[in-house]
Amino acid sequence: MNIFEKIINREIPATIVYEDEDTIAFMDMGPIIKGHTLVIPKTCCNLITDPPDDVVCKLMIVAKRIAAAQMKTLEADGVNIMQNNGKAAGQEVPHLHIHVIPRFKNDGHQWNWAAKSYDSSTEMEAFAEKIREGLIT
Ligand code: AMP
Repeated sequence: MNIFEKIINREIPATIVYEDEDTIAFMDMGPIIKGHTLVIPKTCCNLITDPPDDVVCKLMIVAKRIAAAQMKTLEADGVNIMQNNGKAAGQEVPHLHIHVIPRFKNDGHQWNWAAKSYDSSTEMEAFAEKIREGLIT
């Protein structure tokens, strides 16, 4: 059982800010910015590609509500919504979760968003075509 399942089952403590029959949102214990909240489904799944669409929809709706609350009552100037899938993408806890991170002007945090480039428009088109293929099947 992973750590988030233990939170769902109340086997370990968490600071919960929202809960319904499908979803729990709680404070991330290692916040990127204070107020950083995690939204997880109660159903057992790892990657965003695992559960049925309705589970993902419900998660995103709760993430939207948390983001709105962060802007309203934490007075955040912006919000990052992030979601990691797989170790290669930085996922540490193998239970689907959405990070909702309040952002403030001059909060000092910077993502290491190192943009690359394609060798050519042909190369970009080849990647696009592979993705289109994946959408069909
Ligand atoms: P990720 O790297 O996307 O898997 O993110 C996992 C997140 O879970 C990290 O931001 C951790 O700080 C957070 N985390 C891990 N264990 C706990 C816990 N017991 N309570 C709250 N947050 C946790």
